[in-house]
Amino acid sequence: MSPTNLQVISAEKVLYEDDVDIVVCPGIEGELGVLPQHAPIFTLLQTGEIRVKKGEQEDSIFVTGGFLQITQEKVVVLADAGEQAQDIDEERASRAKERAEERLNQQEQDTDIPRAENALHRSVTRLRVAERNK
Ligand code: ATP
Repeated sequence: MSPTNLQVISAEKVLYEDDVDIVVCPGIEGELGVLPQHAPIFTLLQTGEIRVKKGEQEDSIFVTGGFLQITQEKVVVLADAGEQAQDIDEERASRAKERAEERLNQQEQDTDIPRAENALHRSVTRLRVAERNK
């Protein structure tokens, strides 16, 4: 089977671009495996991990949701933000987790709960992805 060209792009930069064998994406309804010759789709992603296999090599990219487009030529992920697993700053993610937990524990009148919950989910997922890929 010929490889699939994968591009993962955030609002800030190209996070990943290569010809790969298998891509597994965090679709909004669960994990979505993409093999070469996959039917064209356009769908939403949730915050999570994109896992990529190329020969014996495996890579992992964290994304904070976004869009997935599969065409005959390529697979494109447009993410709000993200980084390759090895670029995750774990201390920063831990600080973000503590801030979010503090906000949720001391809920005040103007606390934006969904925002704090999203920040907590991003930070916990970053830590999990970094840990899994050590
Ligand atoms: P923080 O409060 O630490 O900014 P956040 O979850 O609000 O965390 P995002 O909005 O997801 O941050 O990302 C903003 C930018 O900062 C993106 O470019 C993202 O790649 C980068 N970033 C955020 N957290 C980390 C991290 N732990 N390691 C590496 N880059 C990060």
